[in-house]
Amino acid sequence: MTIVYIALGTNLEPRAAHLEKALELFRALPDVEVKRVSSIYESKPVGYLDQPDFLNLVFEAETDLVALDLLDNCQSIEEELGRVRTIRFGPRTLDADIVLYGAEIFEEERLIVPHPRMQERAFVLLPLQELNPEFVVPKWNKTVNELVAELPLSDLDEIWKYIQEA
Ligand code: ATP
Ligand code: CA
Ligand code: CA
Repeated sequence: MTIVYIALGTNLEPRAAHLEKALELFRALPDVEVKRVSSIYESKPVGYLDQPDFLNLVFEAETDLVALDLLDNCQSIEEELGRVRTIRFGPRTLDADIVLYGAEIFEEERLIVPHPRMQERAFVLLPLQELNPEFVVPKWNKTVNELVAELPLSDLDEIWKYIQEA
């Protein structure tokens, strides 16, 4: 069994419903046991700026799947949510990235873990910090708390906790 952290993001409405549906599909996978889910955060897009704000969360799961099979499952769930790949970093109904696969480091063409851009992304680090603040992230050999502390303060203006409307 490996503990993994998966980051979900969406910026096409209905955003909260996309996250909910995605979690439901992950929970239905026989080889993945979803353990804990972070709060939902809302964040300004990075990279390609001319698009709606994102909702993001991270969840913790236990799995028997090898990392590439887990990635296959992530991509099938993205497809089930109707993701169409157009512009890189562009709007999407669901993005499901493997942030951490235990303490392992992979650098293959299809899969890089820890996620190569996690250390610069508040929308990954803040939800991950809720779940496992003291986890030592391989490659950087820093705790999640330390990585959060290294984020530029201005990045924290671009993200806030999402309060779901009743
Ligand atoms: P970013 O990777 O910067 O978050 P993105 O999520 O928008 O960008 P995608 O178009 O969703 O990028 O994915 C491009 C490719 O990234 C995927 O086809 C996948 O093979 C590869 N990839 C590499 N590492 C990972 C990972 N840790 N989790 C998910 N996909 C990964
Ligand atoms: Ca991504
Ligand atoms: Ca992705």
